[in-house]
Amino acid sequence: MKRALITGITGQDGRHLAEFLVGKDYQVFGLIRGQNNPKALLVQEENPALELVGGDLQDLSSLIAAVEQVQPDEVYNLGAISFVQLSFKQPELTADITGLGVLRMLEAIRVVGGTQNNPIRFYQASSSEMFGKVRETPQTESTPFHPRSPYGVAKVFGHYTTVNYREAYGLHASSGICFNHEGPRRGLEFVTRKVTNGVARIKLGLQSTISLGNLDSSRDWGYAGDYVAAMWLMLQQPEPDDYVIATGETHTNRELLDAAARCAGFDDWEPLVTRDPRFERPAEVDLLVGDAKKLQEKLGWQPKVGFEELVRIMYEHDLVEEAARAS
Ligand code: GDP
Repeated sequence: MKRALITGITGQDGRHLAEFLVGKDYQVFGLIRGQNNPKALLVQEENPALELVGGDLQDLSSLIAAVEQVQPDEVYNLGAISFVQLSFKQPELTADITGLGVLRMLEAIRVVGGTQNNPIRFYQASSSEMFGKVRETPQTESTPFHPRSPYGVAKVFGHYTTVNYREAYGLHASSGICFNHEGPRRGLEFVTRKVTNGVARIKLGLQSTISLGNLDSSRDWGYAGDYVAAMWLMLQQPEPDDYVIATGETHTNRELLDAAARCAGFDDWEPLVTRDPRFERPAEVDLLVGDAKKLQEKLGWQPKVGFEELVRIMYEHDLVEEAARAS
């Protein structure tokens, strides 16, 4: 039985990946921080096969202890301060967890090592936010980075640290440059979930408007469940490498609103949206669209869920959840 250690186990991707790996007969361990972390119960209820191990991306000795205890075949580093807007308010914390956390996890793997025949394989969740003010469209593995937020800057550090540990120490360390990926488990602070949840609540008469910032930015939105399969595929290869994980389609927030309004049977979303500068960022990423040709051609990965279906899955989930909460 293969053993996997996942950081960020309580987040959207950690939950999807844990489910995916249990389905592949892995013994799955999730790193959990803090005392009485309220999310621990949620993830254990959702996935009883999951085992939790204490540790914190801000604390190297706790990571060494976790890797020693678990003796993983594979480590997936999904833990991060992942909300761009928060990263502007807490840049130092973001640099520490999202950036230095990668270095600490790689150090723990380097120190503990694994066996010569079975070295620990490492996946780093890199981000399309590293492209920021994009230098070319679509973005590929060789597009230069120009991050536009403390989050993007920290992810660039994590990305290059992963490349460096691969080159310097021969670690099987791979980096997946993930474009935005969403689903019903996405936090309500992200624009997709804020919109599908808001439209569902409007449909149910629970609120009248949604407050949003910039409606003109455009993102390559995929389904998180599809993306964790790509992460796993990357670690099954004989050689570590970097891959873009993306759908190759981009949509503006206006198109997101169009799609969500269609799900609810509303002709026009304009009266339902108010603009609030508090949701605008000091520096914006205007357009992201990834080219995942390398992942498709070398690893045979294809996204299964398209944009309209993704929005529908999220809207329908939110409708049921909000109706249940209100009753
Ligand atoms: P990001 O790509 O990681 O920043 O994902 P988000 O879902 O947080 O934001 C996607 C885009 O939507 C960004 O360009 C935001 O500026 C824009 N946006 C507009 N209004 C909102 C809002 O109310 N909340 C969030 N999160 N983003 C918004």
